[in-house]
Amino acid sequence: MIYTSTRGNAPTLTFKEALIAGLATDGGLYVPEVWPSFSREEIAGFRGKPYAQVAFQVIVKFVDGEIADNALRTMINEAYDTFHHPAVVPLVQLGPNDWLLELFHGPTLAFKDVAMQILARLMDHVLTESGKRLTIVGATSGDTGGAALEAFKTCEGIDTFFMYPHGKVSDFQRRQMTTVGAENCHAIAVDGSFDDCQTMVKSMFAHDTFRDTVQLSAVNSINWGRIMAQVVYYFTAAASLGTPSQKVSFTVPTGNFGDIYAGFVAKQMGLPIERLVIATNENDILARTVASGEHKLGAAKPTITPSMDIQISSNFERLLFEASGRDANAVSTLMGDLKEGGKYTLPAEVQTFIAESFDAGSANETETLAEIQRLYQASGYLCDPHTAVALCVSRQHANPNVPMITLSTAHPAKFPVAVHDAVGKTPNPPEWADIAEDRPEVVTRLKNDQGVVEEFILNASRLGSGRNT
Ligand SMILES: *Cc1c(COP(=O)(O)O)cnc(C)c1O
Repeated sequence: MIYTSTRGNAPTLTFKEALIAGLATDGGLYVPEVWPSFSREEIAGFRGKPYAQVAFQVIVKFVDGEIADNALRTMINEAYDTFHHPAVVPLVQLGPNDWLLELFHGPTLAFKDVAMQILARLMDHVLTESGKRLTIVGATSGDTGGAALEAFKTCEGIDTFFMYPHGKVSDFQRRQMTTVGAENCHAIAVDGSFDDCQTMVKSMFAHDTFRDTVQLSAVNSINWGRIMAQVVYYFTAAASLGTPSQKVSFTVPTGNFGDIYAGFVAKQMGLPIERLVIATNENDILARTVASGEHKLGAAKPTITPSMDIQISSNFERLLFEASGRDANAVSTLMGDLKEGGKYTLPAEVQTFIAESFDAGSANETETLAEIQRLYQASGYLCDPHTAVALCVSRQHANPNVPMITLSTAHPAKFPVAVHDAVGKTPNPPEWADIAEDRPEVVTRLKNDQGVVEEFILNASRLGSGRNT
């Protein structure tokens, strides 16, 4: 399978190359040149299968022979063995045709584990084969950093650095990043916003000497491997509810647009999805874009759902690529407008294409807390605030004849303050969770300055400091 950049000015890559590269050198994102697909019979066959088996069937289409089947199967089995639920991602029924897909049974209690656990194994495998090393630099609004540092801590050939906005992640999220206790894993607290952190990562990719010295790679959801792994649960959840004879809809708490874009990919591969509903918090740029065609950046506002406090949703570019008929020039123009003027306007046909699959809505802080409370009173179920945002929005788009599956992206114990504000009760983490209360925090606080952060990474990484040359 060949992977191509959404901006058309970077070399096409193989699966392994795209996995290691992360971001394309032209600033674009890699996507498969053609969508693999499943027949209705194949999709029906997913019903009742163990998660890891379906994961293999989906992922093997994107790997396309570049990794031996046996090795791939082993990595997938190991990745999902780290989950503390036999269904890996269980469905919970909340009401008639109203379902919650719990994606938080992995080691760091957020859905990011689903992709990160397999991505780390795939990258380690590819690097070991080639005898190379690399340095991962990422930006996190809270959950990606913890999931990545946890997943990559045992990868010999990889140094991992994660920047997060200082003071803007929950204590639980921060502790997950600062108590990993591995020499190759580094947490950086930046005096800035998540968007500042993400912009720095992108600029580092454009900085040739730095990029080449540390062999820079990315595992944010711009990495195709992340998207690929997330496609799987759209298939397993829909199959459980009777797809393909029954269509289903999904509502997804959205930040960087990676998770819901994976649902769009599942649809491209043949999964009969009725609607994909984008749920945002008060940082509702995507909901406004879908409604008006106008994509206009504002300042990211901190909320009780920090993983969605995003203005620049990187993966939206992948949807724009598809919606513009895979026209890389059109995408480059829109991205140029965004960079220069902080906004772009969707061409009419692009807006129409998006409206064919997507709906969008947002929930404010009051609605989010009320939703946590409503659900708790109705059924005794405690959900995290990100999930609550999505549940609020899913209700606005409910169709009594189509099962609505809302993605639950974090365990409520990751956001105890918001949950306590809503119901006066602090959710307990599961007994198996490693909350590391006895381990000291290790973190470096740095200015929101690319030069300063690059200097730190050069000194602290094995490739940058020359310790390995
Ligand atoms: C990352 C995250 C999201 C947003 O997912 P995207 O793929 O960035 O849209 C939502 N909820 C939680 C809890 C997250 O960690």
